[in-house]
Amino acid sequence: MKKNPANRQKKSTNNLDYDPLGGLVFKVSPHLEELAKRSPAVRREFYPSAEETRPTSQSLVDPLLEDAHAVTRGLVHKYPSRVLVLLTMTCAAYCRFCTRRRRVSDIEAGNITLEDIEAMVSYLESHQDINEVIFSGGDPVTVPRLLIAAINKIKKLPQIKIIRVHTRTPVANPTLITPQLLKTFRSITKQALYVSIHFEHPDELTPITRKTVKAIKDTGAILLSQSVFLKGINDDVEVLYNLFSELPMLGVRPYYIYRCDPTIGVEHFMVSFKKEVAIMTELRKRLSGIAYPTYVIDAPNGSGKIPVPLEFWEFKRTNHTDFLDKNIKIVGPK
Ligand code: SF4
Repeated sequence: MKKNPANRQKKSTNNLDYDPLGGLVFKVSPHLEELAKRSPAVRREFYPSAEETRPTSQSLVDPLLEDAHAVTRGLVHKYPSRVLVLLTMTCAAYCRFCTRRRRVSDIEAGNITLEDIEAMVSYLESHQDINEVIFSGGDPVTVPRLLIAAINKIKKLPQIKIIRVHTRTPVANPTLITPQLLKTFRSITKQALYVSIHFEHPDELTPITRKTVKAIKDTGAILLSQSVFLKGINDDVEVLYNLFSELPMLGVRPYYIYRCDPTIGVEHFMVSFKKEVAIMTELRKRLSGIAYPTYVIDAPNGSGKIPVPLEFWEFKRTNHTDFLDKNIKIVGPK
């Protein structure tokens, strides 16, 4: 596996001195390999293309400024009451549109140890305002021993009220959701457990994925979905209608759909803003409220998920403000 050259840069990562295709290795599971044979959408999600090597001047290596908010190894503290735990930079398969592609797939750089988890716990204990822990990565389910160890420590902290696990494994490699992990989920009794699963297209809802989602639901976890608008994959009313109307039937509440971040090597996945707004407006007319996710732009300076108004209102499509009232110009196709 190649190393990600972006990791040589420290906090000033937002420039084009970076080889995007060299930074994110190619990896699919046998499950996805089979699925990609019959689904062009899944193929486009996971198989590299030459378009990744044509960055524009508007793209950034770290659009959400996560690297700048790291407080201990693997721990990102960006919002007052919650932290992000990046347990690994490994995933079951690598999505070509990954916002964290500057680091994801660099196994060495993302290698978290039990000592790192101890340091995270100490940080949490000394910051009693934090009540929510989000396990992400990479995909935390690809390092089950670490995830289980971290959950077992963090669930004992009285200040923590919510534990969230963000994963794509039910889609990318359902066999990674093991009985031991499910048992650990079941053991969380003092906190609310939310499992947020990343879905992009209804083709991903295979029988084994559905069965895996049900097994997670049966642990008592509350299930949410996250998606990203992706050109040539889900920038279509019918595709998203099918996805978002299926998910609630599996017990998954569609939570967020994001505008694709302007990450180097990912711009070819960006959909025109006008088209996204039109799709979400149409979906709002057709989907029930519980099937309709919040459509947001992740502010490029890392200061919040900004909801986008729909065509029921007149609004300018050129600028928005962030949580700090900073005015931001929309990046990418209009
Ligand atoms: S699973 Fe998530 S972190 Fe991993 S490559 Fe896909 S989007 Fe990136």
